[in-house]
Amino acid sequence: MRWNNRAQRLGFLFAAIMLLGLGISAVPQTSAAPPQAAPAPAAPQVQSTVPPPAPPVPVILIDPAHGGTESGAVLGPDNLEKDVTLAFARRLRQDLVSRGVQVRLLRDSDALLSTDQRAVVANTSRPSLYLCIHATSQGSGVRIYSAMLSDTNGDRGPFIAWQAAQASAISRSRSLQQQLTAAIQKTRFPVRSLTAPVQPLNKIVAPAIAIELAPASGQASQLATEDYQRMVSAVLANAITSIRPGLESGQ
Ligand SMILES: [Zn+2]
Repeated sequence: MRWNNRAQRLGFLFAAIMLLGLGISAVPQTSAAPPQAAPAPAAPQVQSTVPPPAPPVPVILIDPAHGGTESGAVLGPDNLEKDVTLAFARRLRQDLVSRGVQVRLLRDSDALLSTDQRAVVANTSRPSLYLCIHATSQGSGVRIYSAMLSDTNGDRGPFIAWQAAQASAISRSRSLQQQLTAAIQKTRFPVRSLTAPVQPLNKIVAPAIAIELAPASGQASQLATEDYQRMVSAVLANAITSIRPGLESGQ
């Protein structure tokens, strides 16, 4: 580098002095006294980091009865019970999920399942409520069934009789059956509450009921219509949502 003139040399000298001054001022002042630690900031008031436990979300296991080569009742020329139960189960799932209830479908295709296979799935997943769906051309509205056995049918030992597995849950099943029936009665939709040997209710260790759909008009073809299924599904979804405290507590 060459200095072009006196002004440049003076400018460089001035800048060097300024930098030197800054450097000196940056050196910490030594002192016999130990450096004073900055006062610690006051500890913030922290709420417990453990959130309160969320209420359990009930899980409904919906089982559309029949399927595959086992078509159930013939409700019309192109109207098989296995198709009505599956279509209705899918609609009810949608209505319940939109109301904050978790739902699993035991059958979500035209699959052939035995009642024992259905019971094994239910007993493995332990839902808040197992809900089997049937359809019939007889009667009107809906019928709600609980298993036909008493709570004295269960074994007292470590093993549970397969045919009477429901015994330990029958009081909860009947309580939910009654709550559901009462909730539907408020809507004036036809509903009956019954006890019957509906498979596989007696083999299920969780609260278990069956719901049988019948047409309101007396015409079996109504069961397959979108309007009727939508209406009944909304009635049932509202009723199930209204008994949610009973589902959560297992009462
Ligand atoms: Zn059936």
